[in-house]
Amino acid sequence: MDIPRIYSIRESNHRIHNPFTPAKFAALGQAIQLEPGIRVLDLASGSGEMLCTWARDHGVTGTGVDMSSVFTRDALTRAAKLGVSDQVTFLHSDAAGFVSEEPVDVAACIGATWIGDGVAGTIELLKRSLRPGGLILIGEPYWRQRVPDQQTAMGSGATRTEDFLVLPELMEQFGDLGYDVVEMVLASQDSWDRYQAAQWLNMRQWLDSNPEDELAAQVRAELTSEPARYARYQREYLGWGVFALMQR
Ligand code: SAH
Repeated sequence: MDIPRIYSIRESNHRIHNPFTPAKFAALGQAIQLEPGIRVLDLASGSGEMLCTWARDHGVTGTGVDMSSVFTRDALTRAAKLGVSDQVTFLHSDAAGFVSEEPVDVAACIGATWIGDGVAGTIELLKRSLRPGGLILIGEPYWRQRVPDQQTAMGSGATRTEDFLVLPELMEQFGDLGYDVVEMVLASQDSWDRYQAAQWLNMRQWLDSNPEDELAAQVRAELTSEPARYARYQREYLGWGVFALMQR
């Protein structure tokens, strides 16, 4: 069980596999008023940066679950580096259907709502691990502006226009599901660049070191077309944010 190797090539140097910066995760941790001893579950935890830094900065404890063996190993290394190995656990596992044994105070899925078949299903999944009155964190894309056509949607990384909502509609969707949006931290175009543009140097360095690899032609093609695709479509049209929700 693992994710395709291309992700760990593109994002080999990323600690955060989303259009967020360390400062934005820090702002989020402050915004939701984390305190020592708060228990956090993070489904699709990637390289564990959110949990590890929140453990260091706020004294939270937590479990991360991720299907990438490479990212999970990086998360364990990061926990050791930050001196929080006794506070956080990282499991290499499928997060779809994962429910924690003990209820948690904060249940998060940051940028992987496909694990619950979309926003509604992922909220339902997280709720099964959450103590009454706890906080759900959802990281999700939205359209910064309405996309004019299918080509723009696909150029932004979606399969179709309907994959995402504009921000006010996403807020209403959370409300329709019975949740108050109690906080949010949004990506900016600059923080998107830290996620997307940082992949180009990773790809170039990997190509220079692995010219004979079976993925070399794919990575070459991506590196040739990605910067313009990103600048033309995704950077203008696709937003992203983390939304903190409490059940009404
Ligand atoms: N939340 C992390 C990672 C987001 S990227 C961060 O903000 O950095 C999406 C993550 O989902 C990747 O780490 C990928 O390995 C993971 N993933 C994809 N499908 C998954 C599944 N079914 N179960 C668990 N993790 C999954």
